[in-house]
Amino acid sequence: MKSLIRKSLCLASLCALLGCGGEKSAEMKLVTEATFPPYEFLQGNEIVGIDIEIVKAVAAKVGQKLVVENVLFDSVIPSIISGKADIAAAGITVTPDRQKNVDFSIPYVTTGIVFVYKKDKPVLKGEEGKGLRIGVQNGTTSDAYVVNQLGQEPERFDSPAMAVAALKSGRVDCVLADVDPARNCVKGEANLACSDFVTTEDYALAVRKGNAELLKIANETIAELKASGQINAWIKTWTAVADTLKNK
Ligand code: GLN
Repeated sequence: MKSLIRKSLCLASLCALLGCGGEKSAEMKLVTEATFPPYEFLQGNEIVGIDIEIVKAVAAKVGQKLVVENVLFDSVIPSIISGKADIAAAGITVTPDRQKNVDFSIPYVTTGIVFVYKKDKPVLKGEEGKGLRIGVQNGTTSDAYVVNQLGQEPERFDSPAMAVAALKSGRVDCVLADVDPARNCVKGEANLACSDFVTTEDYALAVRKGNAELLKIANETIAELKASGQINAWIKTWTAVADTLKNK
């Protein structure tokens, strides 16, 4: 009898660990990449930003405590595929390729990528990037744009800020990055500017393929946060915080 109880206890904790139906784990594991202000960035030792607020709201609805893990951007989606994390939020653009590997929530913001350039050498449109040394964050839609639309290899960096540092030092001619981190990098830099949108993209949360339960709650949460104006309010608040940190 005792061993039977022990066996079923083992099974229950295994299930909780693996997240299989029935037993609900006490924690929701979020995977992100915290070099992407104002969506996720470090304030001291804490990872903060719009995406963190959104997923906190999802976790609260499920009744789970949020645990945040910070990885390189090109490891974010693999962490969902392998089951290391339950949910991903990292300013992730919905793309057909990624949709093959994860399920996306409804979008929570529409945005896009822009060039960051030196004012004495403007790069204003996609085609103008042809033949230039373009810095991008590894594994992003900017990386894919340079490869697929411009037919060349970019210079790859771990963060938008590192790519912009390479622009300042002359190692690249321009940077292609999502508009918000790009603007954050340009803030207070007299010689740098951002172009208009090169693409239009939607950000969404990602979950493991087939995790319909979590996807449903993520969608409900996003719909509510959009309808109440809360997402726009967070965009304002966290953009201001990220700008202040940049100017320090
Ligand atoms: N939105 C871009 C993408 O999904 C960049 C995201 C990021 O660098 N965090 O590829």
